[in-house]
Amino acid sequence: MKILWSKKDINGKPGQEVKFIRTSTISSLSLKNGDVLYVTPKAGKRFVTEDADENVGNGNMSTSGSSTSLASMTSIKSSNNNFSIPLSVEEDPVDVELSKIDGMIPQEKTSRCNHTSNQACIYCAPREPYDPEYLRENGIKFMSFHSYLRKLKREKTKFASIEDINLKIKPGCTTHPPWPESICSACQPNALTLNRQTYRHVDHIEFESPSIVDEFLAYWRTTGSQRAGHLYGRYEKFTQTPLGIKAVVVAIYEPPQECSRDHVRIIPDENEGRIDAVAKGLGLARVGWIFTDLVSDTSGQVKHFRNIDSHFLSSQECITAGFFQNKFANATKLSSNGKHGSKFVTVCVTGSKDKQVHMEGYQVSNQCMALVRENVLVPTKDAPEFGYVRESSSKQYVPDVFYKEKDKYGNEVTKMGRPLPVEYLLVDIPVATPKSPVQTFSTGFPVENRPMEGHLQDFAALASLKQKMPNLPEFFRDFHLLIYLGTQTIQPLSLEEELGPLLAALRDEKTELVYDWAESSHWRNIELLMQNFNDGYQ
Ligand SMILES: [Zn+2]
Ligand SMILES: [Zn+2]
Repeated sequence: MKILWSKKDINGKPGQEVKFIRTSTISSLSLKNGDVLYVTPKAGKRFVTEDADENVGNGNMSTSGSSTSLASMTSIKSSNNNFSIPLSVEEDPVDVELSKIDGMIPQEKTSRCNHTSNQACIYCAPREPYDPEYLRENGIKFMSFHSYLRKLKREKTKFASIEDINLKIKPGCTTHPPWPESICSACQPNALTLNRQTYRHVDHIEFESPSIVDEFLAYWRTTGSQRAGHLYGRYEKFTQTPLGIKAVVVAIYEPPQECSRDHVRIIPDENEGRIDAVAKGLGLARVGWIFTDLVSDTSGQVKHFRNIDSHFLSSQECITAGFFQNKFANATKLSSNGKHGSKFVTVCVTGSKDKQVHMEGYQVSNQCMALVRENVLVPTKDAPEFGYVRESSSKQYVPDVFYKEKDKYGNEVTKMGRPLPVEYLLVDIPVATPKSPVQTFSTGFPVENRPMEGHLQDFAALASLKQKMPNLPEFFRDFHLLIYLGTQTIQPLSLEEELGPLLAALRDEKTELVYDWAESSHWRNIELLMQNFNDGYQ
């Protein structure tokens, strides 16, 4: 976050910039009694009003350094929208990139155009990225999040501010004793009416290669038990939707879990931090989760039971998705708490209409995230398509939650969320694999946490793969193998100092650095152990 300090010039416009350093004094800055100082936020174009944008100078002042500047910055509020600027929010690179793009959709010259080719008229003027007609014509069901921001900006103010939904009692009310004794109109959270979300934070989910999914499904194929996994990958621009984002999945990590034919329970993972650190070292992040709900039928195909007549995601799955989305919230400077919504996706592998194994992608809405965040939504026992909004208790005040539905006469009626059809909370996302698949980090090393004969991720598997794959840069190119190196206890490797340089070399595809790393004593020790292992000394 940068801000610009400037003095007024003779025309009354903000002029000469004032550069503060630690030792600045009034006289060293040549400030006189009566001088007016302007403070202008300079975070990025979306933050800067058009007037200020014209006057942005070169010598920005960073907030780190002077304590006075930091103190004044936290209290800066835009006069017209009561918007405070969040401190040090690090947005995803893809969001930064998209926020700088114009996003207008260029149009071809039409037969109705009556002008030369380099002009534009109402028939051929560029269209807004959220243009509903364009989206419909191109079969795009939801506008992208960045298109939605442009829409807000165009419709409301120069500042598109987005705040998370608050379902909590507002703190600091002193006129009465606290809940459950009392509540008043000033501190009571507003009732929430559920709307179907019109935009999505992720427009497309892409698995780098079908083999990533096949490897994941191998567990179900072998055991008949359902399975869940964490999706690791990155977010990229998705060009088929204006200002769109896709989640690219590079690897699936399978956390410790209890699974059977009809349920999966994920167990707390003592390695969670190490897995995330290995992924981060490779330039990857957790972008979602995946689970199977597959039942074979007698013909060797799979049953189709998730549909409009039953449910797409159950209320319990929506709550889990909401939990993850809150945990992996979307960082944005446009919200006062520095976050809004999430780019974390949910993928369900189940039977399609034609009884094939297929993937369905979802997110829950930001309204659902709020219901889950405040522990307001619970599953119902026997109907997966319904959730239930908790009643207020002495511990928790729960605001009313409504949804609107057409009755049998076609009239819109408002209903209480007890029960609550979860379809109101869902946003669906297409899932696909690219025409030319790639495998950045996969050679077939056994997957973690699979208690299966011949599938164990252990030292024997490492030693045997090394024998089959003597080429080191190739050998290391496997997410599961790197996870193993980062978590094994035979010759433990510290993540930053010892494993870190290898991860960076693989991330940057620097083959010579991989060989350099293999000269290190920690890897030499592991090689020696593998040699002994392969020679039969265990
Ligand atoms: Zn024209
Ligand atoms: Zn009150």
